[in-house]
Amino acid sequence: MPKQPRIRTDGPREFRIITESKRLCPSVALSPRLRAYFQKFSSETYRSFPWRDSGVGAFELLIAEVLLRQTKGDDVVGPWLALMAKYPDASRLSRAREGTLKRILQPLGLQNQRARALREIALALVAWHQGRVPLTLQELLRLPHVGMYAATAVSCFAFGERLPIVDANILRVFRRITGVNLKRDLRRSPEAWSLAWSILPRKASEHNYGMLDFSALVCSPTKPRCEVCELRAICAYGLRARP
Ligand code: SF4
Repeated sequence: MPKQPRIRTDGPREFRIITESKRLCPSVALSPRLRAYFQKFSSETYRSFPWRDSGVGAFELLIAEVLLRQTKGDDVVGPWLALMAKYPDASRLSRAREGTLKRILQPLGLQNQRARALREIALALVAWHQGRVPLTLQELLRLPHVGMYAATAVSCFAFGERLPIVDANILRVFRRITGVNLKRDLRRSPEAWSLAWSILPRKASEHNYGMLDFSALVCSPTKPRCEVCELRAICAYGLRARP
C-alpha cells in the first residue's frame, strides 16, 4: 500500500515570492525591447511537443512538466506518450505498479525518484482534489514534487493564468542579459521573478513558450549563439563575447 503523500509546507512561501515580486516589478530599461523581442520570437520559432497541443489537459501537462525537470523536451516525448496511454488520469496513475512505471521512465534516467514522484503527485490529487489538478497556484504549490516552475507552467498553459514562468534556463538568459548575478535558487531569487513580470505581455502563454524556446535554441547553456542573436546589442554577456 503506497504511503499517503505529505502536504508541502513551503508552498505558500513560494507563492508569496511569485506574487509579491509582481509588486516589486522594476521598471527595467530593457523591458520593452525584451518583451517585443520574445513576442516576435514565439510567433516565429515555436517548438512542437505533444503536451503543447491544444487538447492537452492539466493532468497531462502537469506530468509533462514534472518529467521535463533537468531533461530535454525531445527525450521526454516517448515516455510521456507511453505514460499518458497507460495512465490517462490521476486515479489510474496512483494505482500504477512500480515496476511498470520504472520501465516506462527508464530512458529518462532517475527512474526510481521519478516513479515515486509521479505516484505521490497522483495520490495527492486523488486524496485532496478528487483526482483533478487544482486550479489555483497556491494549491498547485502544495502538491508534492511540484515546484515554482511546474506550478506556474500549469497555471499559465493549462488554465490561462497570466503568470511568468522562470526555470533554470530562463534564469540563465536573465543573468546573461542583465549581467546581474541572480541567485540560482528560484525560491531565493525574487529579482528574477520581478524581471519576468516586467516583460510579461497580456498573452502570457505564447511569450512563456517563446522564452523557453529561446533559452533552448539560441541562448543555450554551453554555446549561446550570440552572433545571430538580436538581443546582442543590449546583452551584457553578448557585448563581451567575441564577434
Ligand atoms: S547575446 Fe548571447 S548571451 Fe545574450 S541573450 Fe543573445 S545568445 Fe544569450
